[in-house]
Amino acid sequence: MEFEHKHKQVIPQKCPVCEVSQEDLKSMPVGHSEDRMIMHVQCTKCNSAIMVFITQNDVGMMTFGVMVDVHDTEAGEMFSQNPINDDDVINVHRYLQKEGTNIHDFVEQQ
Ligand SMILES: [Zn+2]
Repeated sequence: MEFEHKHKQVIPQKCPVCEVSQEDLKSMPVGHSEDRMIMHVQCTKCNSAIMVFITQNDVGMMTFGVMVDVHDTEAGEMFSQNPINDDDVINVHRYLQKEGTNIHDFVEQQ
């Protein structure tokens, strides 16, 4: 799938916590469906973890990320049971609004 090749573009340029560059971030896709994908990104220096949600539509690709405290194996388990659906995306949006997190600080809009 074309998506897989794009995933390098959607991982953060640097760690939002310790600011090491992208080369020191370890990324793993934890789930995807036809038009969306979830990546787990972990910093190899400070161990911070981010979940990056990628959706694709006619307009293009949209990404947003949130800091998490789950490691990649747990993240994989979380999403392997169910296909990603709209509720997952909406839930994360709500969470971000509630917390007032500015995801654009570390995830670039495509
Ligand atoms: Zn870090």
